[in-house]
Amino acid sequence: MPEKADDAARDRVLAYFQKYPQTVLDGDELMVISGIGEWARRVRELRVEDGWLINTGTTYRELALDLEENETAELVEQLKRDLGLDPFSMRPDQYILASDTQDRDAAYRWRQLNKIRKSGGSVRDKVLEYLKLNVERPVSGEELRYLSPRTTEWARRVRELRTEYGWAVASRMSGRPDLAVGVYVLEHDRQARPNDRKINDAVRVNVLNRDNHKCQVCGWDYSQKKPGDPRNFLELHHLLHHAKGGQNIEENLITLCNTHHDEVHSDPAAEKRVEEIMLKILAQTAQHI
Ligand SMILES: [Zn+2]
Ligand SMILES: [Zn+2]
Repeated sequence: MPEKADDAARDRVLAYFQKYPQTVLDGDELMVISGIGEWARRVRELRVEDGWLINTGTTYRELALDLEENETAELVEQLKRDLGLDPFSMRPDQYILASDTQDRDAAYRWRQLNKIRKSGGSVRDKVLEYLKLNVERPVSGEELRYLSPRTTEWARRVRELRTEYGWAVASRMSGRPDLAVGVYVLEHDRQARPNDRKINDAVRVNVLNRDNHKCQVCGWDYSQKKPGDPRNFLELHHLLHHAKGGQNIEENLITLCNTHHDEVHSDPAAEKRVEEIMLKILAQTAQHI
C-alpha cells in the first residue's frame, strides 16, 4: 500500500517541522525522518496542498542578497540574528517552517499563483496582483519567489512595492517583529499617499522603533487589532511633505494608525496636534543623545 506509506511519511515530516518551527532543517534530516527517498516531494505537498508556510534556504539567501545590495548592513545583521545563522550560506535543500498557522486554501492559492505566473506583465505587477488577492493574509517568500524567474528579483520587487510605491507590504525586516522572517502581509489594499512614499526600510524600522510601534496620537498597536475597530495598521507620515522639500529622514517622520493618518491629512487642527507631538518626540530623542 504505497499511498499509506506516503501519507505516514508526510505526517512524520510535518510532525518534525512542528516540533522545530522557525528552525533550519536539512534535507538529510528530513530524509531520515521520513524514511523514504522522496521526502522532497512530501515537503512540496505540505506546502502546496496542505498550506504550511515552508520556505527553502534559497528564499532566505535571496532575501539577504537583496538587503545587502539595497539596504543597510544593520538590516542584514538583524536578519542573521533572527535566523540564528548566516543566510548567505543557506542551500535549496534547507527548509524553515516560517509560521505555525496552516492555510487550508493552499491548493487554491497555488492555482492563483500558477495563473499569475503564466500571465504577462512584470514581476512587480505579478507580485502585487497576488498580494492583493490575499490582503491581510500572510504569504511566504516561497510563494512570491515562484512569480519571479530570475534570482532575487522577487525580494527587490516586494521591497520596492513598499519603499517606492507605498504599498503596505509588511514584513519582519520592515518593522513588524510579530511576523517571522520570510513571511509577508499586504496589510490593506491601499497605496500610501504620494507624499508619504519613498521611505527606505532602514529609516522605517528606526522610526517604528523610536515610536515603540504605536500610533503617536492614540497609542494603537498591532496587538490591539480587533474586528469593528477601523484602526487596522500603522503608517509613517511625513510632517513636512516631501513634495514640498520634506526629507525622508527620521526627524521628519512619525508613526500613526490609519485612522489618525487620515485625520491629519484632512483636518488642519489634527495636523497641528501631530506637529506638537513630534516636537516632544524630537526633544526626548535629543535628551538621549
Ligand atoms: Zn491612532
Ligand atoms: Zn501622511
